[in-house]
Amino acid sequence: MSGFDYDVVIVGSGPAGVSTWLHLHKFAPALAARTLVLEKARHPRHKLCGGGVMRAADAVLGRLRIKIDVPSVPIHNLEFHYQGKRFYWRQKNFFRVVRRHEFDAALADAARRRGMTLHEEEAFRDFTQVDGGVEVETNRSTYRARALVGADGARSVVRPKMGIEERPRVSRLIEILTPADDHATPEFVNHTAAFDFNGLDMGLQGYIWDFPCWEDGVAAMNRGIYDSRVYPNRPRADLKSLFRAALQARGVFDPRQRWEGHPERWFHPQAIYARPRVLLAGDAAGVEPFAGEGISFALQYGEVAAAELVVAFRRNDFNFAGYRDRIMTHELGKSLILRYRLAKLIYRGWPPVVVNLFFRVMGRVWS
Ligand SMILES: Cc1cc2nc3c(=O)[nH]c(=O)nc-3n(C[C@H](O)[C@H](O)[C@H](O)COP(=O)(O)OP(=O)(O)OC[C@H]3O[C@@H](n4cnc5c(N)ncnc54)[C@H](O)[C@@H]3O)c2cc1C
Repeated sequence: MSGFDYDVVIVGSGPAGVSTWLHLHKFAPALAARTLVLEKARHPRHKLCGGGVMRAADAVLGRLRIKIDVPSVPIHNLEFHYQGKRFYWRQKNFFRVVRRHEFDAALADAARRRGMTLHEEEAFRDFTQVDGGVEVETNRSTYRARALVGADGARSVVRPKMGIEERPRVSRLIEILTPADDHATPEFVNHTAAFDFNGLDMGLQGYIWDFPCWEDGVAAMNRGIYDSRVYPNRPRADLKSLFRAALQARGVFDPRQRWEGHPERWFHPQAIYARPRVLLAGDAAGVEPFAGEGISFALQYGEVAAAELVVAFRRNDFNFAGYRDRIMTHELGKSLILRYRLAKLIYRGWPPVVVNLFFRVMGRVWS
């Protein structure tokens, strides 16, 4: 490794970055030992998120022999609202709802216990190609590494530095927490997550969610609005008005509430995922645009990115030309493509009768 400080630098210690390190540790422990993970914040760091952790996420962690035991609300019922009708999909432990600062801190701790070198409060700024590797500049230092992974989320800084110029493929989300009573709020009592698709008729390419959760031991409802924008040329729905009306309808609108927004990057089969010496993972690469679910996908990206890195080091070839194929042939790519097609189908602007039929059919499949 002469002339290089590390073999790999991973930017971001969310699910994608930590999973990349954990899989490197599983596949090639010596390589993981020569890997640095950079995190601009400090755990437990704030992350806007509904906190819905699907079983696929816990399955990835299970294969790594990691159990993230943080306060969670198990969800056994999904309730879909459209045009005054309710559709139910029932399945025990469909997913669980966590708070992301707790989940991500526990995941980072699990990796640290296995030896992950994590520099917190150190932000990636830029990189340049050098002979045999990359030079990575942060707010604190400069490192030479042979490969770089951008796992720095939807507002990735690595991505634009790779010179990727693509159509914007970004979803819009707003989220708040409202008070709840774990003995009386129906979503708590029935272990239900609600998805309200009434906004489809007002140009929303998404839904409003109501998830029960625990915030510092106190029952709360995580509520938000998701606009996938998989049809980016269509007029934008008025997100704030739709969300305000939904909160008013639920009797939980409070003008003093602080709303927070954050984008998500959605997966597209033709998107760019790598350049020589640099890979993208998680939100920086693109997650599924149907429900905006990204945690399980970020964890799966980690497995695929680590496999690509191991092969690159074995062959001493850092072109990463095979990364796309590796993504597409993995269960990650197969589910991303399926959800991408589902998003294109459901957000197409069908007449209400077709949307009703869709929920009815899906309800039968999932119940
Ligand atoms: C409002 C909202 C609700 C959501 N709800 C759900 C849900 O219920 N279920 C679900 O599965 N998904 C949900 N998602 C999506 C999910 O949050 C993301 O897909 C997931 O966090 C992606 O993980 P990641 O590791 O790629 O990125 P992130 O979790 O964003 O992690 C990126 C990390 O990189 C760090 N970083 C950023 N820039 C730098 C830099 N320059 N240098 C160093 N570090 C840097 C950040 O601090 C962060 O820790 C939601 C998203 C939003 C916005």
